[in-house]
Amino acid sequence: MNNRFEEMPVWQVSMDYAQEVFTLIAHETFANKQALNEQLQSHALSIINNIVTNRPKGAWAAFAQVKSMLYFVERFPEVSANCRAELDRVMMKSNELARLLSDLLADYVEEKPKYTRRDEMDDGPRCPKCGAPMRLRHGRNGNTFWGCSNYPACNGVLNVQRKAA
Ligand SMILES: [Zn+2]
Repeated sequence: MNNRFEEMPVWQVSMDYAQEVFTLIAHETFANKQALNEQLQSHALSIINNIVTNRPKGAWAAFAQVKSMLYFVERFPEVSANCRAELDRVMMKSNELARLLSDLLADYVEEKPKYTRRDEMDDGPRCPKCGAPMRLRHGRNGNTFWGCSNYPACNGVLNVQRKAA
């Protein structure tokens, strides 16, 4: 990830996108759609904020919500009649931003969970699925088992008896 977010095209386009969204809803047709306006503003800004804090999944989720709301906006005949040009600009910018956001997601590597000293001292077996240390867990019905320390990302389990044997 580039440390200087100001130089990232995806950040620049997300700024343009938010600006287009704000321009669209400044149109008088939106004057009586306060709840929709606030949602659009807040999610458009959330795309930018998630990009600068290295949360591409959050950026994508916020983008999907804005785009979905824009499809909703398209259903209003008065919007299509009164601010078609503004709406078209936002929709075109959506395609550009979608491409950049999907690249960002593809490049994103989740940070590996860090094991604590206590995990290492547990001396448990290694997860059969991912190789991480396992921790003793207690199930709802009182049973004890080894569960992967990467849970919930990994659901590897081992029977406790297998280790004692
Ligand atoms: Zn595992």
